[in-house]
Amino acid sequence: MANGTQWKPERPWGAAEAREVLRAQGLRYSRPRRVILEYLSEQDRHLSAEALHQALKERGEVLSLSTVYLNLGVLAEAGLVRGFSGPGGEALYDSNPSEHYHLICSETGEVQDVAPPLIDGQPLGAFLRSYVERQTGWVVDEPKVTLWGRPPPQGEVEPSD
Ligand SMILES: [Zn+2]
Repeated sequence: MANGTQWKPERPWGAAEAREVLRAQGLRYSRPRRVILEYLSEQDRHLSAEALHQALKERGEVLSLSTVYLNLGVLAEAGLVRGFSGPGGEALYDSNPSEHYHLICSETGEVQDVAPPLIDGQPLGAFLRSYVERQTGWVVDEPKVTLWGRPPPQGEVEPSD
């Protein structure tokens, strides 16, 4: 089962990997894409296109909001960032490329990554997808799992494993 309490996400994509992934799909590792990926991987956060646009602007990176939108879409399509619905239903982007689920605090909207449980050695989502594909013959997209709740009060112990 899941090992330990402190799950560490896999490293976000490095520049060389990102360039390779894009090139394999006939896409350029353009400056906006590099700037966006670098920011997301440094910050390891879940951001909307607007918040990302603002953060880049504060750093002196001049990208228009529509450039940020467009390139986030390309990067998500290429599998370099993951899109998901945030607390208000808005699109958020995530640089953590490993399969994981989101815990959203219903009071603050804070988003936290959580590792999937393993079933027959596969992460829950991959297991569910292949199970449903076998049952139905459909080609199923990767399931996105979002759980809402409230964190433990400050200072309380980590959940046991
Ligand atoms: Zn995440």
